[in-house]
Amino acid sequence: MKALRLMDWKTEPELVEVPKPTPGPGQVVVKVGGAGACHSDLHLMHDFEPGTMPWTMPFTLGHENAGWVDSVGAGVTTVSEGDAVAVYGPWGCGKCERCRLGIESYCENQAAAPVVNGGGGLGLDGGMAEYLLVPFERLLIPLPADLEPATAAPITDAGLTPYHAIRRSWPKMTPTSTVVVIGIGGLGHVGLQLVKATTGARVIAVDNRKEALELATKMGADHVLPSDDHAVTAIKDLTAGHGADVLLDFVGASATMELARTAARPLGDVTIVGLAGGSVPLSFFAQPYEVSIQTTYWGSHPELVELFDLAARGQLHVETTQYSLDDAPQAYRDLKDGKVNGRAVVVP
Ligand code: NAD
Ligand code: ZN
Ligand code: ZN
Repeated sequence: MKALRLMDWKTEPELVEVPKPTPGPGQVVVKVGGAGACHSDLHLMHDFEPGTMPWTMPFTLGHENAGWVDSVGAGVTTVSEGDAVAVYGPWGCGKCERCRLGIESYCENQAAAPVVNGGGGLGLDGGMAEYLLVPFERLLIPLPADLEPATAAPITDAGLTPYHAIRRSWPKMTPTSTVVVIGIGGLGHVGLQLVKATTGARVIAVDNRKEALELATKMGADHVLPSDDHAVTAIKDLTAGHGADVLLDFVGASATMELARTAARPLGDVTIVGLAGGSVPLSFFAQPYEVSIQTTYWGSHPELVELFDLAARGQLHVETTQYSLDDAPQAYRDLKDGKVNGRAVVVP
């Protein structure tokens, strides 16, 4: 079968032939119906020095996956051939306390996990191929009727990651509060909808692309702002001088982190989700009083179950641009050039 593989750090991925996987006991092979192209893959290709992550090359890209069960290994009882499924992406040991609570992204027994701090497409073979080997049946979530795998795939990361970050700040997203979403790409365009669908807060969307701000308006943002030197003043103006209660940074560059930190209201939350590698000073007077600055990584299995429920009720629209597996390299080039609206999804 064909697969888009990352052969080494700081290289472009290559389309190559690899054997079709067969499921061992407890394992499932999924016929891929959609694999999202995440900006994190661009960081793997261009930014990460060898050794940043303890993974062995090569591996197949694609860590947002959904499709249909193709074959099951011995002892698999919860899914059967033909079932439409999404794949929970962070693959932990399945036994430690965090894994038993469903937050395998923070598995505390990495030595017993199939790969350290990763999953399919992150250290192990992912979904940018015709078939994907899922090492444990527990990682599969049945898809609601009417949700196509190509639309469902991005929900497992571009949906789950913002949802986890938003859920953490729910108590601060009251009807009188303002949430700023910075970076309206794959994650951000879903994130702003999740704020609107699950809280009463007002949303200000910030991006430096005109098309992204248009998408934000279409997805329900109350205000949109270009990401420039005036953004902090504009956020203050829109909040009676107070600043925003929660700021979600889906870029993570020094400029956006600085924007988030300085536009925060005292008692606010600043959450850095993007991996652009920025930094800001932290000291007593560096940011408004009692502002929490935090990072988040991916999300939990129960949160993904909640998200699919929201999606099944039509509360979530994932804007996708589809590419064939042969065109997967182009999907990443378009993502790099800021030409993707919403999420690029590879449909083998
Ligand atoms: P994307 O390329 O689809 O979207 C990024 C958006 O940010 C684009 O709309 C772009 O125009 C905008 N942008 C870039 N620079 C900007 C700036 N200075 N000001 C405002 N907007 C700016 O990327 P994505 O797939 O949504 O991923 C976003 C980031 O989140 C990436 O760094 C990715 O690696 C990271 N990520 C983190 C996690 C996690 O668990 N923490 C999970 C997935 C992705
Ligand atoms: Zn990702
Ligand atoms: Zn674990």
